[in-house]
Amino acid sequence: MMMKRKIAVIGLDSVPPEMMFQKLLDKLPNIKRMYERGIHGSLETCHPPITVPAWMVMMTGKNPGKLGIYGFRHRRGFSYNDGYIVNSTSVKEKTVWEILSEHGKSSIVLGVPPGYPPKQVKNCNIVSCFITPGIEKTFTHPQELKDEVLEVSGGNYIFDVTFRTENREKIKEELFEMTSKRFDVAEYLAQTKPWDFFVMHEIGFDRLHHAFWKFFDPSHPKYVKGTQYEKLDEEYYRFVDERIGRLLEIFGEECITFLLSDHGSKGMSGAFCVNQWLEAEGYLRFKKKPQTVLDFDKAEVDWERTSAWGWGGYYARIFFNVRGREKNGVIDPERLEDEKKKLSQKISSIKDNSGRKMKNLVLEPERIYGVASGDKPDLMVYFDDLNWRSAGTVGHPSLYLFENDTGPDDSVHSMNGIFLVYDPKKRDLSLDGNGAKELEGARIEDIAPTLLELFGLDGVKDKKELFVGMDGRTLSSVIRALD
Ligand SMILES: [Zn+2]
Repeated sequence: MMMKRKIAVIGLDSVPPEMMFQKLLDKLPNIKRMYERGIHGSLETCHPPITVPAWMVMMTGKNPGKLGIYGFRHRRGFSYNDGYIVNSTSVKEKTVWEILSEHGKSSIVLGVPPGYPPKQVKNCNIVSCFITPGIEKTFTHPQELKDEVLEVSGGNYIFDVTFRTENREKIKEELFEMTSKRFDVAEYLAQTKPWDFFVMHEIGFDRLHHAFWKFFDPSHPKYVKGTQYEKLDEEYYRFVDERIGRLLEIFGEECITFLLSDHGSKGMSGAFCVNQWLEAEGYLRFKKKPQTVLDFDKAEVDWERTSAWGWGGYYARIFFNVRGREKNGVIDPERLEDEKKKLSQKISSIKDNSGRKMKNLVLEPERIYGVASGDKPDLMVYFDDLNWRSAGTVGHPSLYLFENDTGPDDSVHSMNGIFLVYDPKKRDLSLDGNGAKELEGARIEDIAPTLLELFGLDGVKDKKELFVGMDGRTLSSVIRALD
């Protein structure tokens, strides 16, 4: 039965349950209908709660340690300054559409990150994601699909907006244009290409949140009241709601649709200067103390007398300078575990600018993932429940910044995204037949096994094989409700 159905995932980057299921739900007629008839809940994201790796955790069922992906940027091996940005080739584990392809099913994959360069997968039509350098590149599989995408989007498909600038009018304009084109392409693909599985990703919500949060959230520490962006959240969410309504019509009665996000968002309190703090604690030394604000890479670090340093971002990555591992390592490898413990304790006692103890969380990749492949940090640190981001730059007059150090940004990520599933054939989905509509405890790793289970894949001799190495489990109450 189930295998004849189609399944669609509409991925909305960065959408928190508080926005979609509370603040704005009444303004969103299509999503409200899905919400009332379907099953919803929070979707707990992975560590770290970052776009890359989160979508790949969702689509492979495997944690970031297995994927070896801990963010966009990575340090190359144990070098001090050499880094790289993750792209699609960094993902070695199989995604849902790759597994489906092996079983003769067709998929449409629009913009799921990291999706550039587009992989060549049989039975798939793929358009790459927001990390694509530009429309001059090959950004589709098959290659000929590019011409169709460009035609549908008026010759100028938009992968991403330039969002860390003060020109907010321009961001706003680009945001709507980009999303409009994304849904034009989505509609086109859903109508003209064969598919059993359709998955799309919209980055616009994330950009809206980062660029405009302080204008529409009165609880933001730097709330700016009464601008033309006061209701921009509502305006954008409604705009997407309307496009989702159109897409649902195209998907038809045979399609089960999921609305999912990779993490949530909340207002940013500030940025904490991790390297300056490490310097103050005696872990990091400079040959020449930075006199102006500098990227850490540009600072003259005295590596022979430095035992740890950090990276900025929505969370901090901490690296130790270990003898025999780093070029000028100073920490005896046997002391590394002790050093991690000592530093973790110090991090736990950091206070914010008002003297209140921050709710900091220190994570060790090996411990949380079981296995930590690739270029992992020694420690991962969330400052004050992620309300403070990490500033890697140095030369600031204080440890506390109230503007992001890498360009205007007003929001940070939070640990819960959204989960919503809707079956147009079933007007009143409920969990375990008892009328409950709120799913509890769903995690981002659970999506891939749940999708595969829904497809059934009759004829697969050993179904367990499909789930080997996955960290997620199938959401069986959802599957029973949809059956
Ligand atoms: Zn994201």
